[in-house]
Amino acid sequence: MSTNRTFTMIKPDAVENGHIGGILEKISSAGFKIVAMKYTQLSTRDAEAFYAVHSERPFFGELVEFMTRGPIVAAILEKDNAVEDFRALIGATNPAEAAEGTIRKLFATSIGENAVHGSDSDENAAIEGAFHFSGREIF
Ligand code: ATP
Ligand code: MG
Repeated sequence: MSTNRTFTMIKPDAVENGHIGGILEKISSAGFKIVAMKYTQLSTRDAEAFYAVHSERPFFGELVEFMTRGPIVAAILEKDNAVEDFRALIGATNPAEAAEGTIRKLFATSIGENAVHGSDSDENAAIEGAFHFSGREIF
């Protein structure tokens, strides 16, 4: 069953490259409502925990290094069919394969530095939202 919430991060590359405003504009034009948002930075421990599912992958060290190197914007987004629709809006993991008009096509630089995160399931959306936000930070 699908729910109406997903979790996103604007990753350090997109923040460094000045794309916070452009990405938030794409998100709101696509009909997502922001129900929680913060500007923050992941510690090494945070990034290792958040991406624990990838801990055996060869790029894990690089991923943790990247995700901790500067601030991110974390947000919970609301819309019907949020998880699936947001994955469509961000495009493929590798921006070279991302469809025209998607956030990664517009703002990402490489498969590693790909501008945004989007939850891959309703279950993970709930886990990831709770990782970053307390109940009174969600509106
Ligand atoms: P995300 O979970 O960040 O939304 P995704 O679901 O599209 O991305 P995953 O397979 O979950 O992709 O990979 C998590 C992240 O790990 C990617 O977004 C990217 O930053 C990094 N990554 C994935 N594959 C590679 C790779 N081959 N080389 C370097 N980094 C990679
Ligand atoms: Mg993923």
